[in-house]
Amino acid sequence: MSNTALPREAELRAWASRGIEVEGDVLVTQMPRLKSVVASTEERAYATFRCWKDQQHRYIVDIEVQMTVALVCQRCLSDCQLELETQSSLIVVWNEDSIKELPSGYDPIVAGEVSDLHALVEEELLLALPAVPMHDASDCEDASRAFGDSTMDVVEEKKSPFAALGALLKRPEAEDNKG
Ligand SMILES: [Zn+2]
Repeated sequence: MSNTALPREAELRAWASRGIEVEGDVLVTQMPRLKSVVASTEERAYATFRCWKDQQHRYIVDIEVQMTVALVCQRCLSDCQLELETQSSLIVVWNEDSIKELPSGYDPIVAGEVSDLHALVEEELLLALPAVPMHDASDCEDASRAFGDSTMDVVEEKKSPFAALGALLKRPEAEDNKG
């Protein structure tokens, strides 16, 4: 974790030519697609970009991203913390025609002059998200119970319009003031 914000934009080819390396944080609020699936907006990702040119003069970007996200456990429906860690090596290409020439172990990134680093970090994290987030069995409130009925009960409870109304009456300003 750092206190430096990751720059938003980069000319990846220029960075690769100069061997530039940057690191920094991206707030979850700067990643709208990720924000829509996580349970909290307090989190931030920590990302490292290493840009370099290989011997065939290709532009390479090594990306590492770490983030702890809160997701809703699909078994007990309470929050579960998940540690996401990704590592990718990308080759910067102008268009999809050049993709077939890529060596194995590298993913292509089709990029114009300027790339959005926050979007790249978000993409990495979205790919790393589990399809069905769940606590480990030992941490899950529902793991010892039968899957069927108890899960349905919890769903009913969470969706109760009266519960939602109660929360609304208690905290009329709650909509946007979090944090
Ligand atoms: Zn659970």
